[in-house]
Parts: sequence; structure tokens; C-alpha cells
Amino acid sequence: GAPEHISTATDYNIFVIYTKENYQLHVKFELFAKSLLKFANSGMLLHLHVLTDETSGHSVEQILESEIRRYRRSIIYSLYSMHLCAEQVMDIVNTMTPYFSSTPKSYYSDALFFLSLGLHRIADENMERAILLDCDIVFRADVRLLFNEFEKFAPDHLFGLAPELTPVYRHILYRYRANYPQTDFGSPFYLPPSQQQQQQQQMAANMVSEESSLVLHNGHKLHKLDRFHGPAKHGYPGLNSGVVLLHLQRIRKSSLYHHQLQDGQVRRLTSKYMFKGHLGDQDFFTLLGYEFPNLIYRLDCVWNRQLCTWWKDHGYSDVFDKYFTCKGRIKMYHGNCNARVPE
Ligand code: UDP
Ligand code: MN
Repeated sequence: GAPEHISTATDYNIFVIYTKENYQLHVKFELFAKSLLKFANSGMLLHLHVLTDETSGHSVEQILESEIRRYRRSIIYSLYSMHLCAEQVMDIVNTMTPYFSSTPKSYYSDALFFLSLGLHRIADENMERAILLDCDIVFRADVRLLFNEFEKFAPDHLFGLAPELTPVYRHILYRYRANYPQTDFGSPFYLPPSQQQQQQQQMAANMVSEESSLVLHNGHKLHKLDRFHGPAKHGYPGLNSGVVLLHLQRIRKSSLYHHQLQDGQVRRLTSKYMFKGHLGDQDFFTLLGYEFPNLIYRLDCVWNRQLCTWWKDHGYSDVFDKYFTCKGRIKMYHGNCNARVPE
């Protein structure tokens, strides 16, 4: 029989979207492929799944083949038709766009930004886990180390995402935060000591009344207990979807998740937080992660070190750095909003 190691089944499945190619995107994908292969030293085979279109697909093959030759690595890669993938998630896209999209509907440009929410339909039904990456990611470590993060998932965790490193959700939640000044939704992850103290005092003051009513802004039990046992030490700045760990097996089986994808639930969530977004899937993940904190594992920012500084020059220079802080040795840079990645 065929030797086992020839099998194409691998535990390291990475998905990336590469469509509507232009020069800028081409350069990004080159850097993505180059750094991916450079740091993927040894061990189990990687399987790269690229969602692409007819014209962009030629570059994908050419870039991958040339980097595979350069670094003498073996990986498996498969190309998927973005057109067919878009059709498989159309219902989700149609539900989400009114709440989380700023541009008017257009062919599959919308599908691209919500694809993560339906990836469990696109991936092979036997695939248990996968990681979806933006192609403006640049690796500084072996991507297989990121798969170890799945081992840290609690039993309820479906997804893993790193925090958003700009005040974009402080901006979007402006009205909600004005109505609920004590909220940590839209606050930076690392709160300054003064604000932690304030939260602590507020918690102590609220303890009795909240204990008797047991009604908090969000109905989750574990979350409730967390809040009773002590002050929140961190803010919740939202999530960034440039790096998404997906526990596909659990996602397929989660009735709670599928319920939250329904229009009624998305409407309920967005109106509760007076939320009108424009960042696609990450707006949905951000709301989901606040409402149901046990569904989403918080990935460390070193796995998605975003570099976009747009909000620094657009009204948030005073607080920007509190959001942008990321301590630790960077494993993956994210050159979002076309930011340059350091050499
Ligand atoms: N993308 C694509 N074609 C496009 C725009 C985006 O294939 O015309 C894919 C690509 O993988 C990209 C991801 O969608 O990384 C998300 O877009 P982008 O990274 O530009 O958004 P940002 O991270 O800057 O918000
Ligand atoms: Mn990106």
C-alpha cells in the first residue's frame, strides 16, 4: 500500500483569500508566501487553501512555486473558486451586510469580508480545525506554533481572535458608551491603573444591587460570576479578524452560533449596542465576543500585531497608544490599511 506520509490529510490547514488582484495585493501575497515558507522549518506538512479567481489564481501558483523552490520546502496547496465559495455563504452575507458594511452591495466583494462566518461549509467536512488569515499577514515565526493555541481553547471556545489594536470600536460605540459610562466595551485592553481603580470602586458600589437583581448588561452566567468576584482588569477593545482560529468541528455543531447568525439576533445585538459597523466579519465577532465571552478565545496580540495607525490622525491621538500597545515578541505582523511591515 501507499506509505502513510503521502496522505494529504494534515492538521495544519490555513485558508487565505486572494481575489481581484492588483499590484499592491500581489506584493502582499508575495510577502505572505515568502515569510510563511521561510519560517516553516520542518515537521508536519502545511496545507494552504487559497480562495481565488481565474486571473488572480495564476499569480498564486507562480508565487507559491517560486517560493517553494527558493526555500526548498514542501507544502500542499489547493485553489478554490471564490465565486463558488461566495455562493456557499450568500445567506450569511445577505444577513450581515445591512449591519456591518458601508459600501452598497456588489457581487462577491461582500462575501470576501464575511467568509470566516461560513468557512465550516467550505472546508472539507472532515476538517476539524483551520486558521483563516488575511494575505497582508507577514510571519516572524513558524505558523504551526499558532496551531498550538487550539490546545488552550476551553470546551466552549469556537473561534480564536486577537484584540483590535485601534480605537475603532470606541468610535462606533460612541453613543452606547455615552449612555453607559461604566462599560468596558470599546475600552483598551490594558487599562491604566487609575481606570482600574475606578472600575473597582464602581464594582464595590454596585455589588449589592446587582447581586439581588442578577441582571447585567449581558446575560451570560460565567461572565456574571467573573464580575462578582472582582473587578475587570481589562477593557474590551473589540476583535480583529486578520487572524481567525476556527474550531470547525464545534462550529458546525453549535446551535447557539447558528442562532446568532439569524437576522433577528443580529438586529437585537446591533440595536442593544447602537452599533453600525463597516468592518465585516470582525464587527460580528466583536459583538458576539462581548455578548458570549465563552465562545471566543482571546489570542495574544503577538499573533496579529496590527500596524494601521489611521485613527491616530483622525480624532484619537490622545488615546491611540493605549489601544496600539502590544507587549511581547511579535510572531505575525498584520499590515492592515496598507501599513508597511518593518524589515
Ligand atoms: N482581499 C482580496 N482582494 C481584495 C481585498 C481583500 O483578496 O480586493 C482579501 C485579502 O486576503 C485581504 C483580506 O481580504 O488580506 C482583507 O482585506 P484587507 O487585509 O485589505 O483589510 P484590512 O486588514 O486592511 O482591514
Ligand atoms: Mn488585513
